[in-house]
Amino acid sequence: MTELLYQTDSYLKEFNSTVHNIDLQNNSIILKQSAFYPGGGGQPADRGWLTFGTKPLEVERARKSGPDILHIINGELPQLEIGLSIDGQIDWDRRYQLMRTHTAMHILCGVIFRDYGASVTGGSMEPMAGRMDFEFETMHKDLVQAIEIAINKEVDIARPVRIDILPREEAFQIPDLIRTKINLLPEGIQQVRVVEIEGLDIQADGGTHVKNTSEVGQIEIADYKSKGKINKRIYVRLSD
Ligand SMILES: [Zn+2]
Repeated sequence: MTELLYQTDSYLKEFNSTVHNIDLQNNSIILKQSAFYPGGGGQPADRGWLTFGTKPLEVERARKSGPDILHIINGELPQLEIGLSIDGQIDWDRRYQLMRTHTAMHILCGVIFRDYGASVTGGSMEPMAGRMDFEFETMHKDLVQAIEIAINKEVDIARPVRIDILPREEAFQIPDLIRTKINLLPEGIQQVRVVEIEGLDIQADGGTHVKNTSEVGQIEIADYKSKGKINKRIYVRLSD
């Protein structure tokens, strides 16, 4: 089992750990602890490097496998002993862009629910761009500008983003979490990680986010598409 360091500290760029296991089939190293995000919830997995001795190994991407995080190595896996000390480093520029993008998605989600009562049904992102699907029958072209102004106002307000890990029963008492389909969480999960943009949005979420909406920067609504009478897709883009 890998301890998920990014869950409590999204800003951790480098860490030290030990080899827990080797997965030859997946050309992967499993560590006791890791700051690598393994992907999920629309956020792509981290890339980076693992170093022991002098030569860094390139982590092509991380991936969840049961309770472990696989660090999939690009190139030949060297001979490694269990318990060996290893330094990890994530590709921080890319990850920080993903944290800003992920937080922008929560802002969009929160604003659209607050102002139009529309719920999100899914989404995905890459660094600095993302898309989200809503059950948003009344969405039309003329709303694009109003939504763009409203989301950027939330960036300017500089709202704090909080992370809490709550017992399942406690999380299930939060009314706003129930609307985000928290009831779909598998029964075995006893701890729920809750991400809250204070005063705007709250979600059960395993991803990485910035600690204040001001870090997101300017958000542009790049496009929107009708995916049927009710379902609408909104595309956002961030700027450097
Ligand atoms: Zn999220």
